[in-house]
Amino acid sequence: MRLDEAEQGEVLTPKREKPRLLVVDDQAVNVRLIYDLFQSEFSVFMATNGEMGLAKSREIMPDIILLDVVMDGLNGYDLCRQLKADETLKHIPVIFITGQFNEEDEVYGFKMGAVDFIHKPINPVITRARVMTHMQHKLQADILRNISMLDGLTNIANRRHFNAEIERMWRNCAREQQTLSLIIIDIDYFKQYNDHYGHLAGDSVLRKVAESVTAAIKRPQDLAARVGGEEFALLLPNTPEENLCAVLERLFTNIRVCDIAHDKSPLGKLSVSAGCSSVIPKNTEDTSTLYKRADTALYRAKQQGKNQYVF
Ligand SMILES: [Mg+2]
Repeated sequence: MRLDEAEQGEVLTPKREKPRLLVVDDQAVNVRLIYDLFQSEFSVFMATNGEMGLAKSREIMPDIILLDVVMDGLNGYDLCRQLKADETLKHIPVIFITGQFNEEDEVYGFKMGAVDFIHKPINPVITRARVMTHMQHKLQADILRNISMLDGLTNIANRRHFNAEIERMWRNCAREQQTLSLIIIDIDYFKQYNDHYGHLAGDSVLRKVAESVTAAIKRPQDLAARVGGEEFALLLPNTPEENLCAVLERLFTNIRVCDIAHDKSPLGKLSVSAGCSSVIPKNTEDTSTLYKRADTALYRAKQQGKNQYVF
């Protein structure tokens, strides 16, 4: 597609798996230059004014933004300030493109939260070097952020991620008056398993249960997490209690199919117990109500002989 045929804000390179670069500039010649420089490595998106730049940022979540300072309407500095005030956008590095060097302006830009400046006329070598450096930092920071949200042993969400998500889902479901469901899953006789088979075998069981728990959910908005030593949780927003049975049946089938021998369990096989709770959240309550109710249900499942779920 020729650049002058592309609609404003349209994706110029459609491959989604590449890192994303957004260029916000009111001069087509600059956009063209940036596009030519980076189109082979990045998905390059464009916006030709500040307002569109903000909307495009929210839509595509770019990995880096090249931002012209002087534009009609929302100028580069104003847009940068808005990006940095937005929880979901503030981690995106912004590089200003500016007409002439002015120390005072640059100091102001860095104070606004920019990571760098590029001067016009755009020098391809300098621009490439700067953008590549900042892109590399951004992608590495993303990896670290993801790792801190994952359980090291099972590679599913950890307790920290679960805590953040239950709060977020609680608020969303309260606003939309939708049911939020929680299932807490605990491995039966896990201490006995570890004592009998050893910790390496125990770790392998934790991985298999994590896989079974994850495979029980089918929607991208649901979350599977490891929330304790042998405890897992499923969070299902917009899910009434009656829809949980299908999830629970899949979970218990997955565990059965794993067919893990457990000589120290009266059942002879590794099993799990689960407690479930569903609620339409109220803003006057907090997430602990939901968690306590699921935990109480789990306790009853254990009391009633394990290898079962209780609402
Ligand atoms: Mg301009």
